Amino acid sequence: MNKRIRFFTFSLLLFLIAVGFIVHQKPFASHSESKSQSNKEQLISNQADDISNGESAEGPYKIVIDPGHGGKDPGSIGANGSYEKDFTLSLAMEVYHLLEKVPQIEVYMTRDKDIFLSAEARVRPNFANDLGADLFISIHANTFTDPSVSGTESYYYHQNSLSLANIIHKHVVEATGFRNRGAKKENYFVLKDTNMPAILLEIGYITNPEDEQTMLTNEFQQAVAKAINEGILEYLEID
Ligand SMILES: [Zn+2]
Repeated sequence: MNKRIRFFTFSLLLFLIAVGFIVHQKPFASHSESKSQSNKEQLISNQADDISNGESAEGPYKIVIDPGHGGKDPGSIGANGSYEKDFTLSLAMEVYHLLEKVPQIEVYMTRDKDIFLSAEARVRPNFANDLGADLFISIHANTFTDPSVSGTESYYYHQNSLSLANIIHKHVVEATGFRNRGAKKENYFVLKDTNMPAILLEIGYITNPEDEQTMLTNEFQQAVAKAINEGILEYLEID
């Protein structure tokens, strides 16, 4: 064999080994490639599941807390001169801070300071509707000419709000310890003009001097805020 033929044979042999190596390796490469591809697809489809689950069952739920009155509208005046608008804002802020900690919930306030929101312009229900809110909770304190009248009431208007009213009312009545005056249907604009389940809570009568004093304490407001929070979680079936 001359040098040239030997070199050619050697090169051919190298070439064949190389081809054999590549052909042998290829299926592994493509296998692992397709595996990582399918892993990637799996990951994407898992993420898609998470997102769709997230929207349907696990939130995020947009919740609007609406402190009644504000600005030039003080609401009821308490037996000892407190304003309903201050009580509603203070309690609503407590509710806000509790709901803020729930990962499945996004919480919004129609107002977080002492400002007037026009009822005529439907600012409160429009805010919730434009946001595409899932729940609307309006917080109020009640008033009556007879200072001995006491109790907690919850209101709803549309039928889709009845179970929300019942669940939250149950929790709030337990927290206030006031007379249970029931969950009732009432034609309030914040309930009528909202597209989502909406309720209005009359926590207690600030025209009752004893109740007013209780209602202005931090302990009372924290307990009621906790009750509203628990009611919302129960309604949304969040553990
Ligand atoms: Zn009110």
